[in-house]
Amino acid sequence: MNIERVHKILQDQPKFRLKQVYKTIFSDLAESWEENTTLPKDIKARLIEECPLEIDAEIFDSKKSDAIKALLKLEDGGEVEAVLLLHNDGRRTVCVSSQVGCALGCRFCATGTMGRKRNVTTSEILSQVLLFARYMNNVKKWKKHNRVTNIVFMGMGEPFMNYDNVMDALRLLNDKDGMGIGARHMSVSTSGIVDGIRKFTEEPMQINLAISIHAPTDELRSMLMPINRKYPLDELMEAVEEYANKRGRQVMFEYIMLDGVNDSIEHARQLAYLLKHPLYMVNLIRYNPTGTFQPSKPHAINSFKLALMERGVRVTQRQTFGQDIDAACGQLALKNKKK
Ligand code: SAH
Ligand code: SF4
Repeated sequence: MNIERVHKILQDQPKFRLKQVYKTIFSDLAESWEENTTLPKDIKARLIEECPLEIDAEIFDSKKSDAIKALLKLEDGGEVEAVLLLHNDGRRTVCVSSQVGCALGCRFCATGTMGRKRNVTTSEILSQVLLFARYMNNVKKWKKHNRVTNIVFMGMGEPFMNYDNVMDALRLLNDKDGMGIGARHMSVSTSGIVDGIRKFTEEPMQINLAISIHAPTDELRSMLMPINRKYPLDELMEAVEEYANKRGRQVMFEYIMLDGVNDSIEHARQLAYLLKHPLYMVNLIRYNPTGTFQPSKPHAINSFKLALMERGVRVTQRQTFGQDIDAACGQLALKNKKK
Protein backbone atom coordinates (compact mmCIF):
# COMPACT_ATOMS: atom_id res chain seq x y z
CA MET A 1 0.00 0.00 0.00
CA ASN A 2 1.66 3.24 -1.10
CA ILE A 3 -0.41 6.39 -0.67
CA GLU A 4 2.32 8.66 -2.07
CA ARG A 5 2.16 6.77 -5.40
CA VAL A 6 -1.66 6.86 -5.34
CA HIS A 7 -1.54 10.64 -4.98
CA LYS A 8 0.90 10.87 -7.88
CA ILE A 9 -1.28 8.84 -10.21
CA LEU A 10 -4.33 10.94 -9.36
CA GLN A 11 -2.66 14.35 -9.36
CA ASP A 12 -4.29 15.53 -12.62
CA GLN A 13 -7.65 13.89 -11.93
CA PRO A 14 -10.77 15.63 -10.64
CA LYS A 15 -11.12 15.65 -6.84
CA PHE A 16 -13.89 13.04 -6.67
CA ARG A 17 -11.51 10.39 -8.04
CA LEU A 18 -9.37 10.71 -4.93
CA LYS A 19 -12.52 10.31 -2.84
CA GLN A 20 -13.38 7.11 -4.72
CA VAL A 21 -9.90 5.79 -4.18
CA TYR A 22 -9.93 6.68 -0.47
CA LYS A 23 -13.24 4.91 -0.10
CA THR A 24 -11.76 1.76 -1.64
CA ILE A 25 -8.74 1.89 0.66
CA PHE A 26 -10.08 3.20 3.97
CA SER A 27 -13.76 2.37 4.01
CA ASP A 28 -14.20 -0.74 1.85
CA LEU A 29 -10.83 -1.95 3.18
CA ALA A 30 -10.15 -3.54 -0.20
CA GLU A 31 -7.18 -5.85 -0.44
CA SER A 32 -6.93 -5.52 -4.20
CA TRP A 33 -7.99 -2.84 -6.71
CA GLU A 34 -10.21 -5.39 -8.49
CA GLU A 35 -12.74 -4.79 -5.73
CA ASN A 36 -13.26 -1.23 -6.91
CA THR A 37 -16.16 -0.70 -9.33
CA THR A 38 -16.10 3.08 -9.77
CA LEU A 39 -12.74 3.94 -11.33
CA PRO A 40 -12.05 4.16 -15.09
CA LYS A 41 -10.11 1.22 -16.53
CA ASP A 42 -6.89 3.09 -17.31
CA ILE A 43 -6.53 4.52 -13.80
CA LYS A 44 -7.35 1.20 -12.23
CA ALA A 45 -4.75 -0.50 -14.42
CA ARG A 46 -2.10 1.96 -13.27
CA LEU A 47 -3.07 1.52 -9.63
CA ILE A 48 -2.91 -2.26 -9.97
CA GLU A 49 0.47 -2.02 -11.66
CA GLU A 50 2.12 0.73 -9.60
CA CYS A 51 0.56 0.60 -6.15
CA PRO A 52 -0.80 -2.77 -5.15
CA LEU A 53 -2.89 -2.78 -1.98
CA GLU A 54 -1.27 -5.84 -0.46
CA ILE A 55 0.37 -5.43 2.94
CA ASP A 56 3.14 -7.88 3.74
CA ALA A 57 2.85 -8.86 7.40
CA GLU A 58 2.90 -11.71 9.84
CA ILE A 59 0.16 -11.71 12.49
CA PHE A 60 0.59 -13.23 15.96
CA ASP A 61 -2.63 -13.87 17.83
CA SER A 62 -2.42 -13.76 21.62
CA LYS A 63 -3.83 -16.80 23.43
CA LYS A 64 -5.61 -14.51 25.83
CA SER A 65 -6.93 -12.72 22.75
CA ASP A 66 -6.75 -9.23 24.20
CA ALA A 67 -3.87 -8.23 21.96
CA ILE A 68 -2.84 -9.16 18.47
CA LYS A 69 0.59 -8.34 17.27
CA ALA A 70 1.80 -7.90 13.69
CA LEU A 71 5.22 -7.69 12.15
CA LEU A 72 5.20 -5.64 8.96
CA LYS A 73 7.76 -6.44 6.30
CA LEU A 74 8.80 -3.21 4.62
CA GLU A 75 9.91 -2.84 0.99
CA ASP A 76 13.59 -2.51 1.89
CA GLY A 77 13.54 -5.58 4.11
CA GLY A 78 13.11 -3.62 7.36
CA GLU A 79 10.49 -4.67 9.90
CA VAL A 80 8.21 -2.82 12.30
CA GLU A 81 5.67 -4.05 14.78
CA ALA A 82 2.12 -2.92 15.39
CA VAL A 83 -0.32 -4.15 18.02
CA LEU A 84 -4.11 -4.26 18.12
CA LEU A 85 -5.43 -3.91 21.68
CA LEU A 86 -8.92 -5.22 22.36
CA HIS A 87 -10.28 -3.29 25.34
CA ASN A 88 -13.11 -4.62 27.49
CA ASP A 89 -15.22 -1.56 26.72
CA GLY A 90 -15.19 -2.22 22.96
CA ARG A 91 -12.38 0.15 22.00
CA ARG A 92 -10.08 -1.22 19.33
CA THR A 93 -6.73 0.52 19.62
CA VAL A 94 -3.89 0.16 17.14
CA CYS A 95 -0.45 0.87 18.55
CA VAL A 96 1.80 1.95 15.67
CA SER A 97 5.55 2.31 15.13
CA SER A 98 7.05 5.53 13.79
CA GLN A 99 10.62 4.37 13.14
CA VAL A 100 12.52 1.20 12.37
CA GLY A 101 14.50 1.03 15.61
CA CYS A 102 15.17 4.16 17.67
CA ALA A 103 18.33 6.21 18.13
CA LEU A 104 17.48 7.45 21.61
CA GLY A 105 18.68 4.36 23.47
CA CYS A 106 16.50 4.40 26.60
CA ARG A 107 17.94 1.76 28.88
CA PHE A 108 14.66 -0.05 29.62
CA CYS A 109 13.53 -0.24 25.99
CA ALA A 110 14.09 -3.09 23.56
CA THR A 111 13.73 -0.79 20.54
CA GLY A 112 16.41 1.47 21.99
CA THR A 113 18.96 -1.31 21.84
CA MET A 114 18.37 -1.78 18.09
CA GLY A 115 19.68 1.69 17.22
CA ARG A 116 17.93 3.76 14.60
CA LYS A 117 17.58 2.30 11.13
CA ARG A 118 15.23 4.79 9.45
CA ASN A 119 11.96 6.69 9.66
CA VAL A 120 8.85 4.94 8.44
CA THR A 121 6.88 6.57 5.63
CA THR A 122 3.33 7.87 5.90
CA SER A 123 2.16 4.82 3.92
CA GLU A 124 3.94 2.45 6.27
CA ILE A 125 2.14 4.05 9.21
CA LEU A 126 -1.23 3.78 7.44
CA SER A 127 -0.48 0.17 6.50
CA GLN A 128 -0.11 -0.75 10.17
CA VAL A 129 -3.65 0.52 10.81
CA LEU A 130 -5.19 -0.86 7.60
CA LEU A 131 -3.73 -4.27 8.29
CA PHE A 132 -5.75 -4.59 11.50
CA ALA A 133 -8.83 -2.88 10.05
CA ARG A 134 -8.86 -5.53 7.31
CA TYR A 135 -8.12 -8.30 9.77
CA MET A 136 -11.11 -7.38 11.96
CA ASN A 137 -13.29 -6.93 8.92
CA ASN A 138 -12.52 -10.50 7.89
CA VAL A 139 -13.06 -12.12 11.28
CA LYS A 140 -16.70 -13.06 11.83
CA LYS A 141 -16.69 -12.93 15.63
CA TRP A 142 -15.90 -9.22 15.43
CA LYS A 143 -18.65 -8.16 13.07
CA LYS A 144 -20.02 -6.01 15.88
CA HIS A 145 -16.78 -4.34 16.94
CA ASN A 146 -14.78 -4.35 13.76
CA ARG A 147 -13.62 -0.76 13.47
CA VAL A 148 -10.35 0.71 14.62
CA THR A 149 -11.51 3.25 17.21
CA ASN A 150 -8.22 4.55 18.64
CA ILE A 151 -4.61 5.05 17.58
CA VAL A 152 -1.56 5.39 19.82
CA PHE A 153 1.97 6.13 18.60
CA MET A 154 3.58 3.92 21.24
CA GLY A 155 5.25 1.26 19.14
CA MET A 156 8.84 1.35 17.96
CA GLY A 157 10.57 4.69 17.49
CA GLU A 158 10.22 8.31 18.52
CA PRO A 159 7.31 9.91 16.64
CA PHE A 160 8.69 13.46 16.99
CA MET A 161 11.92 12.39 15.26
CA ASN A 162 9.68 11.57 12.26
CA TYR A 163 7.38 14.53 12.73
CA ASP A 164 6.13 15.23 9.19
CA ASN A 165 5.28 11.64 8.25
CA VAL A 166 3.54 11.11 11.59
CA MET A 167 1.45 14.27 11.14
CA ASP A 168 0.58 13.37 7.52
CA ALA A 169 -0.55 9.93 8.68
CA LEU A 170 -2.59 11.45 11.53
CA ARG A 171 -4.33 13.79 9.07
CA LEU A 172 -5.32 10.87 6.82
CA LEU A 173 -6.41 8.75 9.76
CA ASN A 174 -8.53 11.67 10.94
CA ASP A 175 -9.88 12.71 7.49
CA LYS A 176 -13.55 11.82 7.14
CA ASP A 177 -12.75 10.52 3.63
CA GLY A 178 -9.84 8.58 5.12
CA MET A 179 -10.12 6.39 8.23
CA GLY A 180 -12.39 8.93 9.97
CA ILE A 181 -10.93 8.40 13.46
CA GLY A 182 -11.59 11.34 15.80
CA ALA A 183 -8.48 13.35 16.69
CA ARG A 184 -9.34 12.98 20.37
CA HIS A 185 -9.09 9.22 19.93
CA MET A 186 -5.49 9.41 18.79
CA SER A 187 -2.37 9.90 20.94
CA VAL A 188 1.27 10.57 20.31
CA SER A 189 3.80 9.51 22.94
CA THR A 190 7.17 11.27 23.06
CA SER A 191 10.29 10.75 25.12
CA GLY A 192 10.41 14.53 25.45
CA ILE A 193 11.58 16.06 22.15
CA VAL A 194 10.97 19.69 23.12
CA ASP A 195 11.09 21.07 19.54
CA GLY A 196 8.43 18.54 18.55
CA ILE A 197 6.22 19.42 21.52
CA ARG A 198 6.40 23.11 20.60
CA LYS A 199 5.44 22.38 16.96
CA PHE A 200 2.69 20.04 18.12
CA THR A 201 1.25 22.82 20.31
CA GLU A 202 0.52 24.80 17.14
CA GLU A 203 -1.17 21.94 15.20
CA PRO A 204 -4.84 22.47 14.39
CA MET A 205 -5.80 18.84 15.17
CA GLN A 206 -6.76 17.96 18.76
CA ILE A 207 -4.47 14.91 19.06
CA ASN A 208 -3.63 13.76 22.62
CA LEU A 209 -0.10 14.15 23.94
CA ALA A 210 1.65 11.64 26.19
CA ILE A 211 5.08 12.24 27.75
CA SER A 212 7.39 9.40 28.76
CA ILE A 213 8.78 10.88 31.94
CA HIS A 214 9.91 7.77 33.89
CA ALA A 215 12.05 9.71 36.42
CA PRO A 216 11.56 12.87 38.49
CA THR A 217 15.16 14.15 38.58
CA ASP A 218 17.62 15.03 35.81
CA GLU A 219 20.26 12.74 37.24
CA LEU A 220 18.07 9.64 37.19
CA ARG A 221 16.29 10.56 33.97
CA SER A 222 19.56 11.11 32.07
CA MET A 223 20.72 7.70 33.24
CA LEU A 224 17.52 6.01 32.00
CA MET A 225 16.89 8.22 28.97
CA PRO A 226 20.00 9.82 27.39
CA ILE A 227 17.77 12.30 25.48
CA ASN A 228 17.29 14.08 28.84
CA ARG A 229 20.80 15.53 28.44
CA LYS A 230 19.64 17.38 25.36
CA TYR A 231 16.21 18.29 26.74
CA PRO A 232 16.44 18.42 30.56
CA LEU A 233 13.36 18.33 32.79
CA ASP A 234 12.93 22.09 33.27
CA GLU A 235 12.86 22.69 29.49
CA LEU A 236 10.60 19.70 28.94
CA MET A 237 8.15 20.70 31.68
CA GLU A 238 8.08 24.27 30.40
CA ALA A 239 7.14 23.12 26.87
CA VAL A 240 4.48 20.75 28.21
CA GLU A 241 3.00 23.45 30.42
CA GLU A 242 2.78 25.78 27.45
CA TYR A 243 0.97 23.05 25.49
CA ALA A 244 -1.46 22.33 28.33
CA ASN A 245 -2.25 25.99 28.97
CA LYS A 246 -2.53 26.96 25.34
CA ARG A 247 -4.60 23.95 24.26
CA GLY A 248 -6.48 23.26 27.48
CA ARG A 249 -5.87 19.57 26.87
CA GLN A 250 -5.04 16.85 29.35
CA VAL A 251 -1.48 15.51 29.27
CA MET A 252 -0.67 11.93 30.17
CA PHE A 253 2.71 11.20 31.74
CA GLU A 254 3.97 7.65 31.41
CA TYR A 255 6.05 6.21 34.25
CA ILE A 256 7.54 2.73 34.04
CA MET A 257 7.93 1.24 37.51
CA LEU A 258 11.50 -0.11 37.89
CA ASP A 259 12.33 -2.02 41.05
CA GLY A 260 14.66 -0.06 43.32
CA VAL A 261 15.40 2.48 40.57
CA ASN A 262 12.56 5.00 40.38
CA ASP A 263 9.87 3.55 42.66
CA SER A 264 10.58 4.96 46.15
CA ILE A 265 8.26 7.26 48.11
CA GLU A 266 10.85 10.01 47.68
CA HIS A 267 10.57 9.59 43.89
CA ALA A 268 6.79 9.80 44.19
CA ARG A 269 7.11 13.07 46.16
CA GLN A 270 9.46 14.54 43.57
CA LEU A 271 7.17 13.42 40.74
CA ALA A 272 4.10 14.90 42.45
CA TYR A 273 5.93 18.20 42.68
CA LEU A 274 6.68 18.16 38.91
CA LEU A 275 3.13 17.22 37.99
CA LYS A 276 1.27 19.93 39.88
CA HIS A 277 -1.16 20.94 37.15
CA PRO A 278 -4.89 20.24 36.92
CA LEU A 279 -4.52 18.90 33.36
CA TYR A 280 -1.77 16.38 34.17
CA MET A 281 -2.22 12.73 34.99
CA VAL A 282 0.22 9.88 35.37
CA ASN A 283 -0.01 6.35 34.05
CA LEU A 284 2.03 3.81 36.02
CA ILE A 285 3.32 1.19 33.60
CA ARG A 286 4.37 -2.33 34.45
CA TYR A 287 7.91 -2.84 33.17
CA ASN A 288 8.18 -5.54 30.56
CA PRO A 289 11.62 -6.98 31.40
CA THR A 290 14.23 -6.46 28.68
CA GLY A 291 17.23 -7.64 30.66
CA THR A 292 18.51 -4.59 32.50
CA PHE A 293 15.98 -3.97 35.28
CA GLN A 294 13.30 -5.74 37.32
CA PRO A 295 9.66 -4.68 37.48
CA SER A 296 8.63 -3.01 40.77
CA LYS A 297 7.00 -5.17 43.43
CA PRO A 298 3.20 -4.80 43.68
CA HIS A 299 3.41 -3.28 47.20
CA ALA A 300 5.93 -0.69 45.96
CA ILE A 301 3.62 0.23 43.10
CA ASN A 302 0.71 0.62 45.52
CA SER A 303 2.63 2.82 47.95
CA PHE A 304 3.92 4.91 45.06
CA LYS A 305 0.41 5.32 43.72
CA LEU A 306 -0.95 6.30 47.14
CA ALA A 307 1.85 8.82 47.69
CA LEU A 308 0.97 10.48 44.38
CA MET A 309 -2.76 10.47 45.09
CA GLU A 310 -2.27 11.96 48.55
CA ARG A 311 -0.56 14.87 46.81
CA GLY A 312 -3.47 15.40 44.44
CA VAL A 313 -2.01 13.71 41.35
CA ARG A 314 -4.42 11.74 39.19
CA VAL A 315 -3.08 8.21 38.66
CA THR A 316 -4.10 5.36 36.37
CA GLN A 317 -2.57 1.97 35.78
CA ARG A 318 -2.38 0.69 32.24
CA GLN A 319 -4.29 -2.48 31.51
CA THR A 320 -1.58 -4.98 30.62
CA PHE A 321 -2.13 -6.63 27.31
CA GLY A 322 -0.92 -9.73 25.55
CA GLN A 323 1.84 -10.66 27.96
CA ASP A 324 2.13 -13.97 26.12
CA ILE A 325 3.13 -12.26 22.87
CA ASP A 326 5.31 -9.57 24.47
CA ALA A 327 3.15 -6.64 23.51
CA ALA A 328 5.61 -4.02 24.66
CA CYS A 329 7.66 -1.52 22.78
CA GLY A 330 9.91 -3.11 20.19
CA GLN A 331 10.24 -6.52 21.72
CA LEU A 332 8.99 -8.72 18.94
CA ALA A 333 11.25 -7.44 16.16
CA LEU A 334 14.20 -7.95 18.46
CA LYS A 335 13.17 -11.50 19.23
CA ASN A 336 12.83 -12.31 15.55
CA LYS A 337 16.32 -10.97 14.96
CA LYS A 338 17.74 -13.20 17.64
CA LYS A 339 16.31 -16.31 16.02
N1 SAH B 1 9.43 6.84 21.71
C1 SAH B 1 8.20 7.19 22.28
C2 SAH B 1 7.05 6.28 21.89
C3 SAH B 1 7.33 4.81 21.82
S1 SAH B 1 7.66 4.00 23.34
C4 SAH B 1 8.33 7.26 23.80
O1 SAH B 1 9.37 6.87 24.31
O2 SAH B 1 7.42 7.78 24.41
C5 SAH B 1 6.03 3.87 24.04
C6 SAH B 1 6.04 3.67 25.53
O3 SAH B 1 6.51 2.36 25.89
C7 SAH B 1 6.93 4.67 26.25
O4 SAH B 1 6.31 5.24 27.37
C8 SAH B 1 8.08 3.80 26.64
O5 SAH B 1 8.78 4.36 27.68
C9 SAH B 1 7.40 2.49 26.97
N2 SAH B 1 8.31 1.35 27.09
C10 SAH B 1 9.50 1.17 26.49
N3 SAH B 1 10.08 0.02 26.88
C11 SAH B 1 9.23 -0.55 27.76
C12 SAH B 1 9.27 -1.75 28.56
N4 SAH B 1 10.29 -2.60 28.47
N5 SAH B 1 8.23 -2.00 29.39
C13 SAH B 1 7.18 -1.15 29.45
N6 SAH B 1 7.09 -0.02 28.75
C14 SAH B 1 8.10 0.29 27.91
FE1 SF4 C 1 13.03 5.22 21.62
FE2 SF4 C 1 10.76 5.49 23.07
FE3 SF4 C 1 12.24 3.24 23.22
FE4 SF4 C 1 13.18 5.50 24.26
S1 SF4 C 1 11.34 4.38 24.91
S2 SF4 C 1 14.35 4.06 22.99
S3 SF4 C 1 12.42 7.01 22.81
S4 SF4 C 1 11.16 4.00 21.43
